[in-house]
Amino acid sequence: MSEQIRNVIILGSGPAGYTAALYTARANLEPLLIAGNLDTKTSRIKGGQLMYTSDIENFPGGVIASGVGAEDWENLSGDSEEKAISDLQGMSGPGLMKRMELQARHFGAEMLEEFVTEVDVNNESGVYTITTESGQSFKTHSVIIATGAAAKMLGIDAEEQFFGQGGGVSTCATCDGHNYRGGEVIVVGGGDSAMEEANYLARLAKKVHLVHRREVFRASKIMLQRAEETPNIEFHLNKVVADIKGKPHPQAEAIAFFKDKEVVDHAVLKDSQTGETTPLTVDGIFVAIGHTPNTQVFKNQIAMDDAGYLLHDGHMRALPANAIGADDTPIPGIFVAGDVADHIYRQAITAAGMGCQAAIEAERYLAEK
Ligand code: NAP
Repeated sequence: MSEQIRNVIILGSGPAGYTAALYTARANLEPLLIAGNLDTKTSRIKGGQLMYTSDIENFPGGVIASGVGAEDWENLSGDSEEKAISDLQGMSGPGLMKRMELQARHFGAEMLEEFVTEVDVNNESGVYTITTESGQSFKTHSVIIATGAAAKMLGIDAEEQFFGQGGGVSTCATCDGHNYRGGEVIVVGGGDSAMEEANYLARLAKKVHLVHRREVFRASKIMLQRAEETPNIEFHLNKVVADIKGKPHPQAEAIAFFKDKEVVDHAVLKDSQTGETTPLTVDGIFVAIGHTPNTQVFKNQIAMDDAGYLLHDGHMRALPANAIGADDTPIPGIFVAGDVADHIYRQAITAAGMGCQAAIEAERYLAEK
């Protein structure tokens, strides 16, 4: 019996992967989505980075309002509309990802909860092989790579304890910044990401403490200058966050789920030159020390920039490792989408948009084959 060759395999289960699965499933391409599961060492998880985000308020349409059922939205007007506006809430990251997963499965996408260990996209026959950690191997005519990027973490034990779910450590100001309105926060890092996060948070928080391990910045002059000129951003140079201490969750007594949970109380800053430590009381800590794209398995096969982000030709078509520029001939049937190919926007909505683009390109490719 000949081995089945699939139309399309999607790698990754963030907004880009699920959107690609939804579109290719609705196009009757019977996609297989290899979703990953949980790797505690790298924080990679099925559902991607949004699994660590408490509230998403900027995914258009991804909202709920108390007392408004699914059927009611189109009929809201007058007082009921005003009430919905004032009651409006975003969704939890895990809630949004679950909806995306079920939507793709509803239309026939098949899911496999494993990590991919090997990818062979250097095959002139146009049939590619994907191997997973359990040793399963799949053949496919096309692949949509949506493996995302993982935020770099500081590597101290305490950060894991307070990361995500309202604990106080975050890697995304756009996602979690609103939780710190009127509060004090730390942003760690000296690059453009840190400046951007600090400037964003300075509009919400009473005070932003920018903690950087050196006196020299990687950030562009203009972004650094903007942060320096913002009155409620204070710079702490030659300092690292050496530890984070917690206090009981504010709802520990009221809600059983939070009984043994803690939130950030203060950071212990260590002077990188003298070793001296000082406590800094804050409500939240934003780690903005860069991202690492999940592209290890594509090394020497697909073109990447210096930081490891996958390159494409403007139509989401992956370029071969030896490509000289975006005009080079792309690898037939290999597409990229989401944060794995985007270090600039990194939003759920932009990733979903790229997932849609890649799916449409894959559909066209398969139709013309
Ligand atoms: P980055 O430029 O690599 O900067 C990372 C910063 O984090 C550096 O200051 C680094 O310190 C610090 N850092 C790294 N590991 C650390 C650790 N373990 N503990 C403490 N500090 C640590 O990364 P990025 O800021 O994410 O920027 C990445 C790329 O995206 C850049 O090309 C940037 O221009 C671009 N970007 C652009 C924009 C924009 O234009 N709007 C916004 C964000 C990012 P050292 O300097 O000491 O190594």
